Amino acid sequence: MKTSSIVVLLSFGLSVSAVHRHRPGPVKRQLAQVFSNCTVPNTVALTFDDGPSIYARNISDTLTKYNVKGTFFYNGNNRGCIYDQDNMANVRYVYGQGHQVASHTWGHRDLATLGSDEVRDEMRRVEEALQRIVGVVPAFMRPPYESYNDNVRTIAAARGQSLVLWDFDAGDDDGKPPANTIRDYIDIINQHPSTLLPLNHEIETTAHQVVPEVVDRLRAAGYRLVTVAECLGGMDPYQSVGEPGTPDASWHC
Ligand SMILES: [Zn+2]
Repeated sequence: MKTSSIVVLLSFGLSVSAVHRHRPGPVKRQLAQVFSNCTVPNTVALTFDDGPSIYARNISDTLTKYNVKGTFFYNGNNRGCIYDQDNMANVRYVYGQGHQVASHTWGHRDLATLGSDEVRDEMRRVEEALQRIVGVVPAFMRPPYESYNDNVRTIAAARGQSLVLWDFDAGDDDGKPPANTIRDYIDIINQHPSTLLPLNHEIETTAHQVVPEVVDRLRAAGYRLVTVAECLGGMDPYQSVGEPGTPDASWHC
């Protein structure tokens, strides 16, 4: 009963802010927090960018097989449209397996080059899509190309979001052979940092080769593999959790 009250309050808060967003008022100057690494010792938060894709299930299944969680930063319309049937099914699958879903903005644009209205739109559209598809409004956003400025942080803060970067780039989206990515993972695991926040992408080689190998090695090294929200000390991954919507003609890219 307590949880449902919270959901109602959060949903109410969201709709109120949605109304206020269009009213003139004092400018909110608070800057969103920017996280580049995990803070809870001995945690690793594997992150996967640029989905949803057909490789999501494979990555999700591997994580589930080892009983660990990952975080998926989704675009709305980048490599595909999030409202395509298959993509919506993949987002639901990943969320349903208990992984964290988060925003990678709508069209993977360079936010630092955009005006405020465009930045707001890039954030809003994918938040709306995740709320429609799985019922959650994400509390975390990863800016494409690691590109952001104070304007982006101000808008993110007003939208209740924190920014998440990374401290280890798997390089899997830069044409690097998966064997090299695995080798770099082994190097960093051997250095045994207290925490790790790796950037990966939802692509075939990562799903089929890198993730199975790396998850096994990270666990063998004694790390706890958790979501971004957990590796930051148990922050709330979502601003609200509710029921998914019913698709209609307005669900399009
Ligand atoms: Zn990206």
